[in-house]
Amino acid sequence: MALESTAAAQPVGIYIHIPFCRGKCPYCDFYSISALDRIPAYLDALQWEMQQAAEQGLRADTLYIGGGTPSVLTPRQMGRIVDTAAVCFNLTPTTEMTLEVNPASITTRDLQDYAAFGFNRLNIGVQSFDDRNLAFLGRRHSAEQALTAVQAGVAAGFNNIGLDLIFGLPDQTPGTWKKDLLQAIRLGPKHLACYMLSYEPGTRLHDDLQTGRFAPLSELRVADLFRMTHDFLGAAGYDHYEVSNYARGSRWRSKHNQKYWNGHPYIGFGPSAHGCRLPHRWWNHRSLDAYLESIGRGTPPLADEEVLSEEQQMMEALFLGLRQSDGIDLAGFQNRFQIDFKLFFHTALDRCSAEGWIDMDDRRCRLTVEGMLFLDRIVDELVELI
Ligand code: SF4
Repeated sequence: MALESTAAAQPVGIYIHIPFCRGKCPYCDFYSISALDRIPAYLDALQWEMQQAAEQGLRADTLYIGGGTPSVLTPRQMGRIVDTAAVCFNLTPTTEMTLEVNPASITTRDLQDYAAFGFNRLNIGVQSFDDRNLAFLGRRHSAEQALTAVQAGVAAGFNNIGLDLIFGLPDQTPGTWKKDLLQAIRLGPKHLACYMLSYEPGTRLHDDLQTGRFAPLSELRVADLFRMTHDFLGAAGYDHYEVSNYARGSRWRSKHNQKYWNGHPYIGFGPSAHGCRLPHRWWNHRSLDAYLESIGRGTPPLADEEVLSEEQQMMEALFLGLRQSDGIDLAGFQNRFQIDFKLFFHTALDRCSAEGWIDMDDRRCRLTVEGMLFLDRIVDELVELI
């Protein structure tokens, strides 16, 4: 079983999925349900799952509670999760502890309680400061509530606040997107995640697109917004350290998310959560029913697991490395895969450099901002050579 291999000394990242939301946003394909009356049963099962993993002697240096909407839990319920995690995974005051919150479901009082539990990083799902955009996205909060949520986070003592924003909405212009960005930076967050709107199969927004209920923004215009985001946030002092992520200096990068991108070990708890300790990867049942049923029988809620081949690991290292502005460390790549990166991939690298997509020196291979727009295509070209 995959967890057996996780007892090594290297600290792990812990992700806890809270699979509850008050309603479903039409663009979202994360697993969540609105039956909040099932929270108590879920918390019992989650505690069991964490305690089982604790037997592996894990030590975590990041904890990320996401979802879903973690802030639908009462502070008391949240406190129970944190207490269990602290004991099971040896959390310390230096552990990066991130909580995702939704502006529709938090009060200053709740945030003060969360800070007292040890959370030192607050990620607020603002998405937009424009009520029309929020209505299109089916969010359950207003622009005013988003502002209030950020101010409440500051008032509660969080000095590491991240905001999530979405761009690329139909009819969005550089001017309206810039207003969102301006409002965001006025609030002084340490971290900004700017995601391109995507239409995931199975979501209501995807169906609406298919039936022609609205016209999407063209790829060219979305690309313009991406470039504008890079330039605008760069000028405001934010370092574009991953395709969608910006930090006000490297110390404010998300340590937890960097584990995903750098192939470091992490373990997920709750329905649909994934874990990875290369070359193993595993994931839990997606539905709460299957998750509870499995734990009710006293068995881990594992849906499946896999062992990545050397080729698969190399493909992943390319894709995840090139997502980040630090790019791929050539010596590290050679150590790991016994391959001279420049020599092995030179035909694709030459083509991509000629397009202005790649910036390479003796130590690293990075994508330019333009290259980030073609990440999938570039990785495909490299992978063809493996
Ligand atoms: S609140 Fe977040 S997790 Fe819940 S449905 Fe909306 S986008 Fe998805």
